[in-house]
Formats: sequence, structure tokens, C-alpha cells
Amino acid sequence: MSKELTHFIGGQHVQGTSGRFCDVTNPNTGEVTGRTPLASLSEMQAAVKVAANAFPDWAATNPQRRARVMFEFKRLLEDNMQELAEMLSAEHGKVIADSKGDVQRGLEVIEFACGIPHLMKGEFTEGAGPGIDMYSIRQPLGVVAGITPFNFPAMIPMWMFGVAIACGNTFICKPSEKDPSLPIRLAELFMEAGAPAGVLNVVNGDKEAVDAILTDPTIQAVSFVGSSNIAQYVYATGAAHGKRVQAMGGAKNHAIIMPDADMDQVVNDLIGAGYGSAGERCMAISVAVPVGEETADRLIEKLVPRVQALKVGPSTAADSDYGPVISKAHLDKVEGYIDLGVKEGAKLLVDGRGFKLQGYENGYFMGGSLFDHVTDDMKIYKDEIFGPVLSVVRAKTFEEAAELPTKHEYGNGVAIFTRDGDAARSFASRVQVGMVGINVPIPVPLAYHSFGGWKRSAFGDTNQHGTEGVKFWTKIKTVTSRWPSGGVKEGSSFVIPTMK
Ligand code: NAD
Repeated sequence: MSKELTHFIGGQHVQGTSGRFCDVTNPNTGEVTGRTPLASLSEMQAAVKVAANAFPDWAATNPQRRARVMFEFKRLLEDNMQELAEMLSAEHGKVIADSKGDVQRGLEVIEFACGIPHLMKGEFTEGAGPGIDMYSIRQPLGVVAGITPFNFPAMIPMWMFGVAIACGNTFICKPSEKDPSLPIRLAELFMEAGAPAGVLNVVNGDKEAVDAILTDPTIQAVSFVGSSNIAQYVYATGAAHGKRVQAMGGAKNHAIIMPDADMDQVVNDLIGAGYGSAGERCMAISVAVPVGEETADRLIEKLVPRVQALKVGPSTAADSDYGPVISKAHLDKVEGYIDLGVKEGAKLLVDGRGFKLQGYENGYFMGGSLFDHVTDDMKIYKDEIFGPVLSVVRAKTFEEAAELPTKHEYGNGVAIFTRDGDAARSFASRVQVGMVGINVPIPVPLAYHSFGGWKRSAFGDTNQHGTEGVKFWTKIKTVTSRWPSGGVKEGSSFVIPTMK
């Protein structure tokens, strides 16, 4: 049954009034399960007003009290984990265990945000000059916004609002229109945790809502995660309107496999990192680069039967390795890339096209696909495919392999598999990629470090969460104060103050 979804503004569910909607489907069945309202400019403006009204009191709430809301929210996330995972899985299509991982990764950012009293402590210099003290403080920015993709509907909103709100800002979240129910549920729980109305608002929408955010004079900062062309547009448009912007984009993550690597471990890791969540992760491994023909042959020999044996099934089944992709349009796009790869001359060793699951014939399922002999001039190598497709690019030498991720336009994640510490260390140091795994296939930094790619995988200069997140969501103010004993006696000085 299809249900009418809402926005969540000022602590309440609010019906959409624009008259524009977008269908939400269950990708397991293709059934339309809801209609997301798409906000107009005036609906967004109304939500921004609500967030602006909530800001002064929330910013003035002491950081320990703000942290207590975070503690309580964390507890509610834990208590409601099963319900949240089921809700997420029904709109996204990732399996329940992976959906729990999505919530858990967000929850870990909330755990980090519980430390906000410590994280926002400023710096103080006593006696910077005669009777002079100098201190730097971090203050919240005001109303801020986050625009999020479909593929992590729990984790990515929490990357953003967890830190932003703990810092004292009030927040507008504009989730993906493809799976909007989870962010709304998070906002309900956040209220239940004790957040005042208007501190966290969820406004659904498409480009019109995004443009309303980017041009609104009240909104001070925008965090975006999605595909690179839109990330670049958001970065440029937000900056042109005087906002602080961070915009994370797409990826093509390579795994370099050295001849000395433990091949059984490599294959286990590539199967999980390449095909988990149907390859719809910005940190999915989509390119494997074995070094030397012999390494490549050993890899292929072990990989092919594992890809053939992948258990593709409904996201609700405990034994499914991965579920459907997000939509019919995306399924067609990914299958189109496989057609293209064949045309480009890559060798298709396992073909996942045309996969039909009995009882789920209208679902958006796809078998795992594996290409060998992919080269760096092919479009299937250059583009982000974002599906259950792994490309093997054979490199003759370590140097040739190491150059590939550095030369690629994306620079989100990369991994190297080896027993050679020297090779791993040198690779990690020189590769032009933001997040590096050494024998770790998906090197997603923990919440107290920070997440961000390089090159076209991220626009802006500050990463998500960790201390970088605190920097992004606050501005620094430095106060110089003079309280000389006996009062100020000096006359006017026309020279810039120095410490000579
Ligand atoms: P997307 O770019 O289609 O959508 C992201 C957001 O932008 C959504 O909220 C959407 O409503 C909005 N949007 C869509 N079209 C727009 C337009 N023309 N103008 C303005 N806003 C628009 O991305 P997606 O398909 O939801 O997510 C998948 C992409 O996100 C992949 O490229 C993936 O690599 C990337 N991603 C990156 C990271 C990272 O941290 N680097 C993390 C997760 C996902």
C-alpha cells in the first residue's frame, strides 16, 4: 500500500503543498510504497525560518546539555535498530545486516558528537602581552543544511547533523527522494531524545529544494554527498552565494594486489567490497589491479567461482549476500555499462545481466559481473558504474599499478594487498587518493577520524566528521583582552601592534 510521506519541520510532520511528488518504490518488488513530497522554494523558506527561530536558544544551550541529547539519541538508535534497519532495507534494498551497519556507522558519529564539550573547547594564552590574554573560541554558524544521497540514508545524514547540531547549529536535511523515510524517522527519534523543535528539520525534495538551500541567505553552510557533477554544481553555486560548502562526489576505488598477497584473503575481501550492497557504496572496490600475469591468473582462478556463487536475493532474507539495486533506471544503466564493456573489448568472465529472481520478477536484481583485461582507456574503467561489477586491470609492475589510482579523476578510496611493508608504506605515502587501506578493502575512517576523498571525489577543503567536521560546522573567533593592573595609561599609537 502506498503511503503519503511528509516533511518534518519544527518537530512536526508537515504535508507537502507544492503539488509535486516522487514515487518511492520497494526495489525488491518494484511496488510503489509511498509518495515523497517535493518542496517548493516557499516551503523551504518556511522551514529555514523555523530553524532560524530555534537557533538562538539552541546555540545558547550549554554544550553538556547538547551532548546529553546526543547520548539519549544514541540510546534510542540502539533500542530501535531492528525497526530502523527494516525501514531502510525496504526503500534502499540493502540486506538487513548491512542496513544495521548503515545505522551503526551513523550512530558512531553520534557517539563522537557526545564529546562536543571537549571538542569545542577553545585555546587560551595567558599573558600574551602586558596584562593581555588572548583566546580563541568556536561558535556555531547558524542555520546549516545537508543534502544526502540514496545509498546511506542513515549514516550520511548523521555524519552531518550529528556534528553540526552538537556544535550548536540548527539543521535542514534534504535527503534523497528515493529513500526518504529513514531520515524522517531519525528526526522523530531526535525529538524524542530531547532536542527542541526546529533544531533538526527534514525537507524532502529534488533540484528545486537543493537550489532553494543554495541560494537562501540565512543558510550559512551546506554539506553535500552525491555524484560528482552535482557535487561540483552544489559547491560552485553555494560558494557563489557566500556559503561554506563541502561536497563529496563519486568514486572509482582500486585494489592493488601484489604478488606476495594472501590470495584467499584478497578474494574474500574483493567479494565483500565489490559486491556488498550491490556495489552501491562510494567506497566499493570496482577495480582490481593484480601485479604481474601470474598474480592475475591466480586471482581470476579464485575469483570467478566466487562471483558465480554470489547469493543475490531479497534484502529481507538472512542468507542474501546482496539485494536489488535502487531503481529500474539504475539497473538499466548498470547493465548498459556491461554491454559497453563487451563492445570496448573487455573480457566478460561472469555476466550478471538479465538476472531474474523467482517470486520477485519485478525487483531490480542483478547478478555479479566480472570483467578481465579492462584497460585504462575504456569508459567502463573511467566511469563510476555503482553496481555489482568488478573490473580487473592487469598491470605489469608495481609502478604501473600504483599510477592507476593516482591518474584516475576520482580519488576517494584505494587499497593495497601485500605482505611487503615497504611497498605498502611507499604506496600509501604517494598515492593521490584521500583514504587508503593496507590489507583493508574498505578503509572508511572511524567517526573520530574524518572522511573525505581527493580530486573529483570531493570539492571543498574540509572532511566529514572527526575534528574536521567540528571545524566545518563552527567559526573561530579570537578575543584579545587587556586588563592591566592600575588601568590603561598609554597614549595613542599609530603603529600596528607587534611583539617586538
Ligand atoms: P545524486 O547526485 O543523484 O543525488 C544526491 C543528492 O543530490 C540527492 O539529495 C538528490 O536529490 C540531489 N540532486 C539530484 N539531482 C540534482 C540536481 N540536478 N541538482 C541538485 N541536486 C540534485 O547521487 P545518488 O545517486 O543519490 O548517490 C550516489 C552517488 O553518491 C554516487 O556517485 C556515490 O559515489 C556518491 N556518494 C559519495 C560519497 C562520498 O562520501 N564521496 C558517499 C556516498 C555516495
